[in-house]
Amino acid sequence: MRYLILSDIHANLEALEATLAAAGECDAVLVLGDLVGYGADPNAVIERVQSLEHATIIRGNHDKVGAGIETVESFNHLARHAISWTATELTGANREWLAAMPQGPAVIDEIVEICHGSPFDEDAYIFDDLDARRAIIASQRPLCLYGHTHVPAVFKYDNDLSSIGPPRGARHRLTLDPKAKYLINCGAVGQPRDGDPRAACGLFDTASRTITVLRVAYDVATAQAKIIAAGLPEVLAQRLAIGR
Ligand code: ZN
Repeated sequence: MRYLILSDIHANLEALEATLAAAGECDAVLVLGDLVGYGADPNAVIERVQSLEHATIIRGNHDKVGAGIETVESFNHLARHAISWTATELTGANREWLAAMPQGPAVIDEIVEICHGSPFDEDAYIFDDLDARRAIIASQRPLCLYGHTHVPAVFKYDNDLSSIGPPRGARHRLTLDPKAKYLINCGAVGQPRDGDPRAACGLFDTASRTITVLRVAYDVATAQAKIIAAGLPEVLAQRLAIGR
């Protein structure tokens, strides 16, 4: 089984299309939430994700606020501005679909579990070893995939927790030790924040237990122009060029 892992697309259609093209044939797609917010194409991204075959989709915090099922209180100024714009742009059908997105975590098979923030709280961020330890203990499968931070990361638990260092380069491969537990973030498709502006996604092959973090160059200029044309804050366009 070959899974494509997509997280934090954030209404960036150019990044999503480039990622899908680069990933090639997969047996199933795992979408870890935050389809909307920040970017200028919320409806097109939702509809593209709806078109994916064999997809398991869970919601992110931006999806909940965009759909109007949670308030913007926890959002900073930029996120708030973008999600308010998103809420006015969404079609009625897409807003309903977003509101009905299932909450994570979701167990996928005997190896894989997915969540947006963490397996104990969909909105919690995993930044450091302490967060990761709590998450890995809560996870129900040997491989827990998460998003939300927009930063690729690999944590391994084998009697003790270790951070294996962030995946780097265009194609970072890691073969999982079947005796250990892992907590892995394959990065953000639509708004990377690790200093690499390329879109990020993951590929996991269950037979070989190999996970690959893939970085994909995309048409950043078009995504930026759409953000500016929509009247969204310019910094949301600028950050795409630097991956922050
Ligand atoms: Zn996000």
